[in-house]
Amino acid sequence: MEEWNLSLAPENAAHVQLKKKYELFINGEFQKPFSNKYFETVNPATEQAIALVAEANEKDVDQAMKAAAEAYKPWSKLSGAERGKYIYRIARMIQEKSREFAVIESLDGGKPIRESRDIDIPLAAAHFFYYAGWADKLEYAFPMRKPQSLGVAAQIIPWNFPLLMAAWKIAPALACGNTVVLKPAETTPLTALKLAEVIQEAGLPQGVVNIITGAGKTGAEMCAHPIPNKLAFTGSTEVGKLVYKAALSGNKKVTLELGGKAADIIFDDAPIDATIEGIINGIYFNQGHVCCAGSRLFVQETVYEEILVKLKKRMNTLIVGDPMDKNTDIGAINSKEQLDVINRYLKIGRAEGAEIYQPNCKMPELGNWCPPTLFTNVAQSNRISQEEIFGPVLAIQTFRTIEEVIDKANNTPFGLSAGVWTDKGSKIFQLTKALKAGVIWANTFNKFDPTSPFGGYKESGFGREGGVHGLDAYLKFD
Ligand code: NAD
Repeated sequence: MEEWNLSLAPENAAHVQLKKKYELFINGEFQKPFSNKYFETVNPATEQAIALVAEANEKDVDQAMKAAAEAYKPWSKLSGAERGKYIYRIARMIQEKSREFAVIESLDGGKPIRESRDIDIPLAAAHFFYYAGWADKLEYAFPMRKPQSLGVAAQIIPWNFPLLMAAWKIAPALACGNTVVLKPAETTPLTALKLAEVIQEAGLPQGVVNIITGAGKTGAEMCAHPIPNKLAFTGSTEVGKLVYKAALSGNKKVTLELGGKAADIIFDDAPIDATIEGIINGIYFNQGHVCCAGSRLFVQETVYEEILVKLKKRMNTLIVGDPMDKNTDIGAINSKEQLDVINRYLKIGRAEGAEIYQPNCKMPELGNWCPPTLFTNVAQSNRISQEEIFGPVLAIQTFRTIEEVIDKANNTPFGLSAGVWTDKGSKIFQLTKALKAGVIWANTFNKFDPTSPFGGYKESGFGREGGVHGLDAYLKFD
């Protein structure tokens, strides 16, 4: 093991104010749930409960939807410029409180503080800034088409980028004149609830944004409710299919951002050292809890040995452990349940005949941990190369020709993202046309920007978030 001997560099959490108990944010107020039930949100790095969080039942969902419907009447009539002012205010307040948001995100979700500080929180603010700018320019975005708001949007998000996913959902919805009821995932509700405090402090009219908490049952109640005109869901393909059925039977507009199994394709003319960093970032960023993670690596045969040696060497230097330490590369797995899923796939991979490599890294005793992992000797038909693992697990295959790698890369039920590493522009264009993926990076990976649309093909869902396309999802046209 080639370990870097770095001194501990813990982030100071003393400035963070967490409550012991969180209520539902409905109609501009924090209120007790009709259910009278609360659940614990747990720090996955320490297994300690952080706070109690309200569980919304059918009656709570109904109240939130009615608040959003009532608020829609004046909000939808407000000028775009006025709506934009509120959204800008939220963006600026996220920036002002960014250190607090970053610490809460890492405590609640297990991601390294470096990532929440430098990626999640700044990007969340950037989404609010970006869509604030569109609020008074919708007619320019869709000339001659008379864009109109939809009404109430029910929005359900996962646990891998909690605040960022909330921003992806709320910012375009508000810019387009809709009101929302948002539910964060049950293992990571705290930054969404902090956002509720920001929204209250920003003076957003009551009921324009409602944030309710709970698990799948609460989400299902939201989808089945008659009020929302739009369902926006990010999460697993399995649940996405249920949301889609609810949207069809309720005649609601719907966007689905679902799972992925991205191909990261390395040609022999790629800049190898930069590519190694790209592969690491592609799969080990956020513990691999990334829908667009580069979890299938395709390496051209001629550079396979070189890539493998360098990749293992780099993996040996990755630091797994305390998410609050600024040196940490791979934090805690988000929940015990997700760790069980990942460990099950590690067993499946071995049983399928693949060869596993994991550096011998030190990991804390308490908490949920998985070292960076790679599998070689992987076949196209193996479950580890077909199914989404949602953890730090890479499956490596080789190829000889462009045609072969296009076939292999497209051989999956998913179609969210892909990466291409080569010195040659013509190869990039050939692949970006042939790969069935919503987002394709060239000589980089996992780069996100509010101006750029994101979304999938096939079982990765449909509809786009980000950019002008992201407005379309919250509008109707004459
Ligand atoms: P999940 O589908 O289990 O849960 C997502 C959300 O749906 C949670 O808030 C959950 O409480 C809620 N939910 C659960 N059952 C429900 C039901 N029956 N009706 C309505 N809501 C319900 O997914 P997860 O495990 O939280 O997240 C991981 C998944 O999210 C992965 O598959 C990942 O690829 C996907 N994801 C996709 C994108 C994208 O943009 N395409 C982004 C991030 C994550």
